[in-house]
Amino acid sequence: MKLTDQQWQSRLTDEQFRVMRLKGTEAPYTGTLLHNQAAGTYLCACCHQPLFLSDNKFDSGCGWPSFSASLPEQVKYQKDFSHGMIRIEILCAHCDAHLGHVFEDGPKPTGQRYCVNSVSMVFTDEQLANVVSKDDPTTK
Ligand SMILES: [Zn+2]
Repeated sequence: MKLTDQQWQSRLTDEQFRVMRLKGTEAPYTGTLLHNQAAGTYLCACCHQPLFLSDNKFDSGCGWPSFSASLPEQVKYQKDFSHGMIRIEILCAHCDAHLGHVFEDGPKPTGQRYCVNSVSMVFTDEQLANVVSKDDPTTK
């Protein structure tokens, strides 16, 4: 999914545009999904593809929603040298939206901590199977 900045700007809130398209970061402990415990699926706020499952969400104490794993093939990785650090940036594999970063200090068994801006995601209490079948063009 490729849109111009202008097209994204008209679809997203100012804060979503700043974080997802300009690689910003929301203030810690402010995200609406940070303490969300409900069972369901987290979708990309730009293109609504499923990214993470509630089963993999955990409280890392870092101030952003954290996951120990992403859904396979849904997230892209890219080295990020900004702010004098070397970090691994995570992006939506479908629309290149900036999601956050992944660190190697997560819980077992993956050892990964996907640190994701709350504003980059939309939560649905639908199970993954329902989300996917709805978006599958062959069923329309
Ligand atoms: Zn996306």
